[in-house]
Amino acid sequence: MRDIDHVIAGNGGGAGASRFGEVFDPNSGQVQARVGLGTAADLDRAVAAAQAAQPAWAATNPQRRARVMFRFKELVEANMDALAHMLSSEHGKVIADAKGDIQRGLEVVEFACGIPHALKGEYTQGAGPGIDVYSMRMPLGIGAGITPFNFPAMIPMWMFGVAIACGNAFILKPSERDPSVPVRLAELMLEAGLPEGVLQVVHGDKEMVDAILDHPAIAAVSFVGSSDIAHYVYQRGVAAGKRVQAMGGAKNHGIVMPDADLDQVVADLSGAAFGSAGERCMALPVVVPVGEKTADALREKLIPAIDALRVGVSTDAEAHYGPVVNAAHKQRVENWIQTGVDEGAELVVDGRGFKLQGHEQGFFIGPSLFDRVTPQMQSYKEEIFGPVLQIVRAPDFETAVRLPSEHQYGNGVAIFTRNGHAAREFAARVEVGMVGINVPIPVPVAYHSFGGWKRSAFGDVNQHGMEGVRFWTKVKTVTQRWPDGGVGEGGNAFVIPTMG
Ligand code: NAD
Repeated sequence: MRDIDHVIAGNGGGAGASRFGEVFDPNSGQVQARVGLGTAADLDRAVAAAQAAQPAWAATNPQRRARVMFRFKELVEANMDALAHMLSSEHGKVIADAKGDIQRGLEVVEFACGIPHALKGEYTQGAGPGIDVYSMRMPLGIGAGITPFNFPAMIPMWMFGVAIACGNAFILKPSERDPSVPVRLAELMLEAGLPEGVLQVVHGDKEMVDAILDHPAIAAVSFVGSSDIAHYVYQRGVAAGKRVQAMGGAKNHGIVMPDADLDQVVADLSGAAFGSAGERCMALPVVVPVGEKTADALREKLIPAIDALRVGVSTDAEAHYGPVVNAAHKQRVENWIQTGVDEGAELVVDGRGFKLQGHEQGFFIGPSLFDRVTPQMQSYKEEIFGPVLQIVRAPDFETAVRLPSEHQYGNGVAIFTRNGHAAREFAARVEVGMVGINVPIPVPVAYHSFGGWKRSAFGDVNQHGMEGVRFWTKVKTVTQRWPDGGVGEGGNAFVIPTMG
């Protein structure tokens, strides 16, 4: 049995853990490795190494820091196939999708290669007589990231790409369900020339998360995961005086206007609802056709498209999607399907009980389609995070704007239409953080920023782009005057200075 260890101060943590988590191969349903679950003492060792390394890293000029990111990008590209297979074997997403996971993270690293420009401060000459004002973006010190299972490459890179380029040391606590890729990324950063102690990986569960949230030397925590945990992390981290951004779950809606190109919508929905077995926070699991005619026509086209989906092992190049991450998650998704039936939704395609020949123990779920789902249903209100698409019929545009706006989650939303006015109106009014117009998964590019609203994100600064730079730095503002000894310059001032 392979053991997966921490990466502390550039080498294996040598933790000798007393508790372990099981890492499955979701294709076979078998345990393939175990990960040592760390303790506060392991975190202390990582923090001590980070404290030793961070001042010199912060003092390294930003171009040199960027060069490490350039080299890291090249190394990840050179290792793309191996990383994608490793990712796929623990997560279950198909290889092409695993490469997408890595590539979307690398794009944040590309953004971080431009950090010298992004860190330039502001300057005002002559803000008053002989007075100049300038501001600098300084690193926070030690930051930590706590990441979910569903993007084991992209989300760690969202965080450490920017945090490290800004001059921070970074401690990553990846999901214990698929921890190997984060470890490999940390090794590649070392190979790229990052000094030991600047990026470390500690494994664990709630015990390690709590240790991170309470540690006085950790200045900021970035979290991505489910909403209840995100809220908990946010509250506990803020109570300990940290800067915290905590992204949560989602239930993204796709509005289909009567004038939409339905063939295109069906093609988009197939990928967005079922890709990665629906285990994406930007999946599109709710479709809202406007008007009964649109709903009937859409349903008619969706059924054969869903029947044509190929569920296969994650290394099957023809498969549209692979297994879900573990048996507990499979059970959870199937329970939600039963809840939908019990609540009176119409189960048009039932994906339960799906068995892949030769892989009967794998965590596979067939695609499911519900029609006549209503906003009162629990299966609509909560995130299912599986290959399940729900049709909620809306009588008109106003209802279609209201549904995602009133939902507890507000991560992403899409509208499909040929009507520019309707799209513009929708984008302006909908209470959701990321909007797609004829784009089913509107994940912003790396130099913009990622973040939802409502229970999809706690805290007020988004991931990556300039928002990421703001999160991982603090501003110091200097007001300077160089008196030349002239009349009146040396007097006492008892009134607050103004520029009046
Ligand atoms: P999760 O909340 O179970 O786990 C996320 C992290 O929190 C993991 O590192 C885990 O070890 C830790 N954790 C788990 N239970 C904890 C507890 N009780 N106390 C403290 N820490 C705990 O999430 P997941 O199942 O790994 O990921 C799926 C979820 O993440 C979905 O809800 C999905 O929508 C969400 N997600 C959100 C975004 C976003 O950007 N908004 C992106 C990806 C995933």
